[in-house]
Amino acid sequence: LRRNPGEIEFHQAVREVLDSIGPVLGKHAEYAESKIIERICEPERQIIFRVPWVDDQGEVQINRGFRVEFNSALGPYKGGLRFHPSVYLGIVKFLGFEQIFKNSLTGLPIGGGKGGSDFDPKGRSDREVMNFCQSFMTELYRHIGEYTDVPAGDIGVGSREIGYLFGQYKRITNRYESGVITGKGLVYGGAQVRTEATGYGCTFFVDEMLKARGTSFDGKRVVVSGSGNVAIYTVEKVQQLGGVVVACSDSSGYVFDEKGIDLDLLKQVKQVERGRLDVYTARRGGQAVFVSGRSVWEVPCEVAMPSATQNEITGSDAALMVGNGCVAVGEGANMPTTPEGIKVFLEAGVAFAPGKAANAGGVATSALEMQQNASRDSWTFEHSERRLQEIMQDIHARCLQTADEYGMPGNYVASANIDGFRRVADAMLALGVI
Ligand code: NDP
Repeated sequence: LRRNPGEIEFHQAVREVLDSIGPVLGKHAEYAESKIIERICEPERQIIFRVPWVDDQGEVQINRGFRVEFNSALGPYKGGLRFHPSVYLGIVKFLGFEQIFKNSLTGLPIGGGKGGSDFDPKGRSDREVMNFCQSFMTELYRHIGEYTDVPAGDIGVGSREIGYLFGQYKRITNRYESGVITGKGLVYGGAQVRTEATGYGCTFFVDEMLKARGTSFDGKRVVVSGSGNVAIYTVEKVQQLGGVVVACSDSSGYVFDEKGIDLDLLKQVKQVERGRLDVYTARRGGQAVFVSGRSVWEVPCEVAMPSATQNEITGSDAALMVGNGCVAVGEGANMPTTPEGIKVFLEAGVAFAPGKAANAGGVATSALEMQQNASRDSWTFEHSERRLQEIMQDIHARCLQTADEYGMPGNYVASANIDGFRRVADAMLALGVI
């Protein structure tokens, strides 16, 4: 705490992992002897930089850029960039720390990192977003590379921003280094299913969890928070598996749509027009209502898929959800449930899929994009989706097994942390004190 003052989200993320891995440390004295915990909590490198750019009024704007290269024991640093006004070092470090274990859980050769800026793309023109991205990359380019550090998208960074970032990287370095960034468009080295991967992957994971309890999505009432990349493709896959998504949200409120969200309309409003959810409601012909300024978790559901941001489900939200009949939660977002909320769910016997495991499909598919870039190949949608599903099934099976092995059956929070930690710790041991 003294070393990292004021970084509350980072403290929360570290505490959550450390709370789970006691039994592993008890079995493996060599981890403590070589100070794995102390080393794993300290990023290998942290870069903070000025991002100056010119807005449409000709005024100079200054933002702050971050890249935290947390751990490269398993492979090049890998993790997204977040553009949101709330971004500061504590957020980037919590995301980077979680990323280490998530990437380890995928079984693929990727280390952990994260970055971003306090830039807010909302309400900015395309030209302003491009100016910002070009300035951001003008510093970032010297720190990244196919074998060094491979960024991707996150909140506020979608295909438009990835295009501008890659364009500037290519221009500065004079290298068509496709594997330097993931989430690229299909016409310039992107991979099928990357856009859908986090939402689809989270839904596959929850599907496995439900199956392990003898049930399924079919006919279940589902609430998804957010209405961005993760949320939209969660809605899509849940609907394909027979669930009825009755609500989704953004930072101004939520839409309640009893008969089920109209996915085509949602995509049109959010992805094509970059509009807000009240526009969706206005076009839904009286079928949906927009509830301003309230939490979507007041809508009763059997399955909850938080897909917006950190700490969006509090202890009292969780108690309300359990009381309303919620039996499963799949974290599409990173750390969307507070520690108090997790406690309520676990004590109530809710099947709870932590983000580290449940949303790993996004980064796993990014690693598949790197694999395709390296071999100058491109796979079909069907093949890529099958690979994603296999990866999620494998993570689920390993978590279930580890939970049994450590005497905590069904506790995916503990088993994801233990499983993710073990692989990184073993690699760090093998690499010596570096
Ligand atoms: P997007 O920017 O596409 O969408 C974010 C959504 O969440 C928007 O609807 C946004 O509403 C809402 N939101 C963001 N911040 C807040 C806030 N402070 N309060 C309420 N609502 C908020 O981001 P993604 O869908 O890519 O990311 C969503 C979550 O998933 C994040 O936690 C991210 O870290 C995580 N994640 C994403 C992956 C990916 O592949 N994209 C991979 C793994 C995890 P509004 O438009 O009003 O701001």
